[in-house]
Amino acid sequence: MTRAHPWHATILTLYPEMFPGPLGASLSGDALARGAWTLDARQIREHGLGRHRAVDDTPAGGGAGMVLRCDVLAAAIDSVAPDERPRMLMSPRGWPLTQARVRTLSEGPGIVVVCGRFEGVDERVIAGRNLEEVSIGDYVLSGGEIAALVLLDACVRLLPGVMGKVASGVEESFESGHLEYPHYTRPREWEGRAIPDVLTGGNHAAIARWRRDEALRLTRERRPDLLTREES
Ligand code: SAH
Repeated sequence: MTRAHPWHATILTLYPEMFPGPLGASLSGDALARGAWTLDARQIREHGLGRHRAVDDTPAGGGAGMVLRCDVLAAAIDSVAPDERPRMLMSPRGWPLTQARVRTLSEGPGIVVVCGRFEGVDERVIAGRNLEEVSIGDYVLSGGEIAALVLLDACVRLLPGVMGKVASGVEESFESGHLEYPHYTRPREWEGRAIPDVLTGGNHAAIARWRRDEALRLTRERRPDLLTREES
């Protein structure tokens, strides 16, 4: 499938040199080089104030750290020509990122991503520029850049033609509502551990059943929250 426009990511950050970073290698890097997606990492500081191009200030109400100014961030966001792309803010208190959201994003025109730093961003710009707050997990990073790279990687690998085999995109963890079954490859025996017989027996129905059971077992054990009531 070819698209009229490649999937386009615009990143607003104080560290544009962090992009594409690891996404410049491997499948995402090849896809970037051949124009299957495009990346524009922009420096928020270009919209900073005064001689020092200040982007942050002390928190209203006091407390430690600094907060990214809403006027500076809004100017950076407004410098991106408005289009259909959702505007996201990487944030530890955002909506947890899911594979379903990633899939929807990858099927759209692209994303605009704001990377926070310091204690975070002035609350008013979130509503004022309609930013969708997204978290990549329940831990705190020092900035939004690595979170943005995670979001980008998850989206880009789903773009048409980026992954070798289309099938590998649909059977994985989360797509089915549970975790993926275990994988094995040669050698058949290694350090006294053998590949389960069912996988080398050639009975495809039995293999499918084993994989479904293992996926269910692992999900019950590690992520019971993913299971619907009837399965658990
Ligand atoms: N004081 C904030 C943490 C700020 S961390 C709090 O306690 O919630 C600085 C920046 O790193 C954030 O603005 C955000 O852009 C990014 N960040 C940190 N953890 C993140 C996570 N789990 N998911 C997405 N972005 C995160």
